[in-house]
Amino acid sequence: FDNLVAKEAQLPSETLDGCPVSVLLNAGLSLDVDSCLMDCSDGVGLYRTEIPFMLHDSFPSEQEQTKRYRTILEQYSGRQVCMRTLDIGGDKPLPYFPISEENPFLGWRGIRITLDHPELFLAQLKAMLRASEHNDNLAIMLPMISCVSEVQSARRLLDQAWLEVSDELRERGGAIRYPSLGAMIEVPAAIYLLPDLAPYVDFWSVGTNDLTQYLLAVDRNNARVADMYDGLHPAVLRALQQIIQTANQQAKPVSVCGELAGDPIGVLILLAMGYRRFSMNLNNIAKIKYLLRRVRTDALEPLLAQAIQLNDSAQIRKIFSAYLESLG
Ligand code: PEP
Ligand code: MG
Repeated sequence: FDNLVAKEAQLPSETLDGCPVSVLLNAGLSLDVDSCLMDCSDGVGLYRTEIPFMLHDSFPSEQEQTKRYRTILEQYSGRQVCMRTLDIGGDKPLPYFPISEENPFLGWRGIRITLDHPELFLAQLKAMLRASEHNDNLAIMLPMISCVSEVQSARRLLDQAWLEVSDELRERGGAIRYPSLGAMIEVPAAIYLLPDLAPYVDFWSVGTNDLTQYLLAVDRNNARVADMYDGLHPAVLRALQQIIQTANQQAKPVSVCGELAGDPIGVLILLAMGYRRFSMNLNNIAKIKYLLRRVRTDALEPLLAQAIQLNDSAQIRKIFSAYLESLG
């Protein structure tokens, strides 16, 4: 069975009723880049740039970053690589940049740190842009966005980085494209700001890991409340539905890059809601692709209509488990 799943992973990502979907990789470790399974993904939906930063013993230089980013853009040539700007703080401290806070998940993390340290942010953006020379597949996304001004400030810094790198390259006949810029939707406030954010971003990506944590006020890493951390909680599902509906109204592409996209029931629910781009860890790609190739969106939609009325995740899970079992 595992062989069959692996073999099928090479086939196009589409549902049984011919609906094209994208199955993308959440990457960050160099291991992900070397694996032959990476050929099965339609691109990288989330490159967690903080992981290489965590493996260093000091901030990697702009040159070191350029080299690393170039490797991944080259390996995915022809497929988009969505690089997320540094998302440290919270559960991802850097040993050489200690932050001590009582509530790190509500504190200085992600975009808040990089906007307070424009020199770090600019170095990273310039490294990404330099790496994109001869590689037309770079997209950049911003973590932990909770207000419009953060995106505006980030875009101003991206403009600055782009001008500097472009000028420099022009002197030796080189050029780079201006990359698409997206925001992660993982802080509940951002859901209510989607129409306001729309003019400043090219796409959205839903981070269900943090979105679940912040919507439910349940620490994603605390074993004592792990039972309460539930991506199928009716409030999470209703939020996800609101996001896709607004994204469709705004004609803005949206993907999901949290763990829910790599979960069989989670991905079926997201598919039924209308999501078509799913990014997940390497070990889920073949399995999810195999599943998506066996389901019909028109069979899932009535199940969602039923599930979204329910206020208990166990009942919601039951509906989709029964469907999964019916597939054999
Ligand atoms: C998320 O929050 O869902 C996400 C994809 O980002 P991370 O897990 O790196 O916080
Ligand atoms: Mg997150």
